[in-house]
Amino acid sequence: MDENFEKNTTLSDLTTLKIGGPAKEFIVVKTEQELIDAIKYAKENNLNFLVIGSGSNLLVSDEGFNGLIIKNEVSGIEQNDQTLVVKSGTILQDLLDFANEKGLAGLQKMTGIPGTLGGAIFGNAGAYGQTISDHIIQLTCLNPQTLKSITLNKESSEFNYRDSIFKKNHFIILEVTFKLAQNDSHNLAKESQEILEKRLVKYPKDINCPGSFFKNIVVESLSKEILQKIPPEKIVFGKIPAGALLEDVGAKGQKLGDIEIATYHANLFINKGDGKAADFYELAKTYYQKVKAKFGISLEPEVQLINLPPI
Ligand SMILES: Cc1cc2nc3c(=O)[nH]c(=O)nc-3n(C[C@H](O)[C@H](O)[C@H](O)COP(=O)(O)OP(=O)(O)OC[C@H]3O[C@@H](n4cnc5c(N)ncnc54)[C@H](O)[C@@H]3O)c2cc1C
Repeated sequence: MDENFEKNTTLSDLTTLKIGGPAKEFIVVKTEQELIDAIKYAKENNLNFLVIGSGSNLLVSDEGFNGLIIKNEVSGIEQNDQTLVVKSGTILQDLLDFANEKGLAGLQKMTGIPGTLGGAIFGNAGAYGQTISDHIIQLTCLNPQTLKSITLNKESSEFNYRDSIFKKNHFIILEVTFKLAQNDSHNLAKESQEILEKRLVKYPKDINCPGSFFKNIVVESLSKEILQKIPPEKIVFGKIPAGALLEDVGAKGQKLGDIEIATYHANLFINKGDGKAADFYELAKTYYQKVKAKFGISLEPEVQLINLPPI
């Protein structure tokens, strides 16, 4: 099996931000058995391991990852009427296109979110009022300690705004079952297309970024004292967009090295060419601290930091 593992693979090639040093070892897996075997290998060789999808929500350090990166390409969609059983390495857009074509509603607004289904479940990805967990019936996961698979339902997966139990238990998501509603496939495609056009304004095709960097703030989670400091017009559907607070403290258009905060969106950090994780981190930390000082709010990264300290 050893020869299947690449050494010193550059992780910048595997992230949408195009940043990240080498992984000590790397493998692409295309079946669940290959995924399990890769984890076994890591355990037998005392290597840390990390399962990734498309690397669209990662900030990997310039030093890389001193362990095994497992890129999950275990994909496939099975349909039974309105029920879809989907492997976690399936590209989210492929799932959405499939559902739209079959006239199955409930995922169509998430069109344009890059990445795999597994990555979307991990962070409970969403857009335009839909989240990936909305229509889940059950999930099959792997406990990496025992290498046994277990089934969870929606409730036990503890989905919340950009959160799930998988951020805590580090189980590996293998397969997800959705029950969707029947609708007209033409209408669904039209809805997706309209959203895609809006998204292209914020995320042009060639942008090197990991999506929005910080999570928005759920108003309910804030104390009265903090809430008093927030102008009411900054609250949108029960959340304060992190971008609004970052903009208030002057983040828009700021630069460090080749990392630039978008001039049109203060929560969008872009690699303009040869960007470094260290500069990204420093810039994010600077504006994290400014927001903390002005509003008393500790922003929380939505993006997963790999081999970097918490912000
Ligand atoms: C241009 C752009 C636009 C974006 N827009 C949005 C948006 O509108 N809404 C939104 O929510 N997000 C958005 N994102 C962020 C990102 O696309 C999502 O978070 C996506 O779901 C991540 O999937 P991935 O496969 O790339 O995960 P990765 O980045 O590869 O991994 C992210 C995390 O998930 C874990 N993970 C991946 N697969 C598994 C698995 N099978 N089991 C357990 N853990 C796993 C990884 O270990 C890692 O911690 C955007 C990103 C970009 C670049």
